[in-house]
Amino acid sequence: MNPPPFLIVAIDGGAASGKSSTARILAERFHLLHADTGSYYRALTAELIHRGVKATNPGAVRAELTDLKFGTQIVGHSADLKIHDDKVREADIRSPEVNSAVSHFAALPEVRSALLAYQRGLAEEARRHGFRGLVMEGRDIGSVIFPKADFRFFLHADPDARVRRRALEGQADAVAERDRLDSSRAASPFTCPVGAISIDSTHLPLTEVVERISRLLTSRLLSK
Ligand code: C5P
Repeated sequence: MNPPPFLIVAIDGGAASGKSSTARILAERFHLLHADTGSYYRALTAELIHRGVKATNPGAVRAELTDLKFGTQIVGHSADLKIHDDKVREADIRSPEVNSAVSHFAALPEVRSALLAYQRGLAEEARRHGFRGLVMEGRDIGSVIFPKADFRFFLHADPDARVRRRALEGQADAVAERDRLDSSRAASPFTCPVGAISIDSTHLPLTEVVERISRLLTSRLLSK
């Protein structure tokens, strides 16, 4: 019998659409490496703020980026970004300051291209570490990073439902404003990739979203 195929699963969605929780559960269930690319943009944003650089000065951003070295620390199923061998601290990347700056930095083509090769390289990293695939979540995964992924999902929910979810997590986050900035930028705008499977989670519990996706992955794994 052939070994099961190595699966690349792309999940795109807006802020608080449920994509991180969904990806985390899928990673454990199917032994996939999980890449939360939002955390990578956040880490880069925190580092640039720390270095005193503003998103309104792309020249200064470019200069700082040439000095940055990325690495990966795999913790359980999660691929965490390291900058200069330092693990990024959760509290630093979820701060209100990063929440409000991240979409401005993420709109810069130089920031996006700094992360492009790193993100694609995680497929090889997953193979090397014996994972059965990679589940990567973000805003441009199915459209730009892995347009030929085995599966491309797009999760969405009403803005009110998403604001409520963030509030339950104890976070103040301008969900609609970030979505507006992310969808209207010129470089890799946030969009539902053509041909992606779209799931509206406004009235669906997380478990149901995970079950729908799991059924599709299982049937692919069994059909090979
Ligand atoms: O997923 P999360 O809400 O943590 O993402 C934070 C921000 O990072 C997004 O609002 C967006 O500006 C940026 N991002 C992006 N492309 C990705 C992932 C995140 O532009 N693939």
